[in-house]
Amino acid sequence: MHFSVLTLFPEMFSALQVGGIVKRSVESRLISIETIDIRDFATDRHRTVDDRPYGGGCGMVMKPEPLAKAIRHAKGKYPGGRTVLLSPRGRLFDHGLARGLAAGRSELILICGRYEGIDERICEQLIDEELSVGDYVLTGGELAAMVIIDAVTRLIPGTLGNECSAQEDSFSTGLLEHPQYTRPKSFGGAEVPEILLSGNHDLIRKWRRQASIIQTLLKRCDLLEDVLFTSEDLEFLEKLRQNIETITEKRSAMS
Ligand code: SAM
Repeated sequence: MHFSVLTLFPEMFSALQVGGIVKRSVESRLISIETIDIRDFATDRHRTVDDRPYGGGCGMVMKPEPLAKAIRHAKGKYPGGRTVLLSPRGRLFDHGLARGLAAGRSELILICGRYEGIDERICEQLIDEELSVGDYVLTGGELAAMVIIDAVTRLIPGTLGNECSAQEDSFSTGLLEHPQYTRPKSFGGAEVPEILLSGNHDLIRKWRRQASIIQTLLKRCDLLEDVLFTSEDLEFLEKLRQNIETITEKRSAMS
């Protein structure tokens, strides 16, 4: 998969290649990342890429001409490339979108805005999709582009050392991941759950699934609507419901 990133700060992207999975994926040619400096497409001697907004108001807006040239340059190299503008008004980037992009394994042209954003005519004429990484405003699209590159890369088969880790991660099954433990067995007065030390793979699998359900119930119950529960899950949820009912009854009897 190839990522072309159009930015005013190409040097920021070296952060992605300091270490870890993205760096390894580039080295093993599972992905490639190219940065294109939008300023290289400015035509005046000051290499101007921004201008004041029509209608007044604070801040500057990215000029359409250098950006259009930069996008056309990237499209010339990757004619099938999908142009994605990072923007707070875009579709919210989530696990499903990351999975779709990783499965497509094509070329993505990521456009990073700065200042108050880019001239609207670029959005209308040259952008296929706008993506947001959350309901907040960043100073530029670079961090958002890095989030997308990172999240998509780890879903490309072969990029993770252990294939099953992506399948068991949060959101892959619709649930949050179960808690994880490593040595030492005892830490800060708390012990690792006994089942994880039992060596019984079926019991461990069940414990992890149930712990995932509980984590999701407690922290992101909005996700549960889309989960495909097995009959084993439903049995567990019914037991949980009964336990909660019993506790509630006992409490109200005591008060
Ligand atoms: N004036 C714009 C607004 O209110 O929507 C915000 C511009 S922001 C300061 C500059 C650039 O950062 C945007 O053009 C976009 O590329 C990027 N950006 C900011 N927040 C983002 C988000 N949540 N997701 C993706 N990109 C974002």
